[in-house]
Amino acid sequence: MTERRKKEILKLIDNLYFEFGTKNPISICKGLGIEIVSANIEMKGLYTVVLNSKLIVVQSLLEGFAKLFVIGHELFHALEHDCDEIRFFREHTGFKTSIYEEEANFFSVQLLKDYIEYHQDEVADLEIAEEIEKFI
Ligand SMILES: [Zn+2]
Repeated sequence: MTERRKKEILKLIDNLYFEFGTKNPISICKGLGIEIVSANIEMKGLYTVVLNSKLIVVQSLLEGFAKLFVIGHELFHALEHDCDEIRFFREHTGFKTSIYEEEANFFSVQLLKDYIEYHQDEVADLEIAEEIEKFI
């Protein structure tokens, strides 16, 4: 990821904070009309559009900070990425290899930065803990 791209993503977070007065991804989703549901899915989360409704699905086993992190990750896809494109990349590359995934993780870490030090012990999900380490 380039420095320029990182700056763009930080600017996006500033804009969301300005618009919604919060960095909580659940509140931002509410403000944007994106619905969040939990389901027993294989991946940690996914973003999709069903009958013109924007929908984030979160793995039902995730809770606390890990859940918040995944919602933040998917929120970035909802804001930045074309749905079909993501599906394509999901099918053809691994979870961590695509630049879109890296950007979404960067976004989520930066969005939740203020929460992270208080919740670090809570991040039981190793994969998520690893992503946070990378960008913090
Ligand atoms: Zn993703």
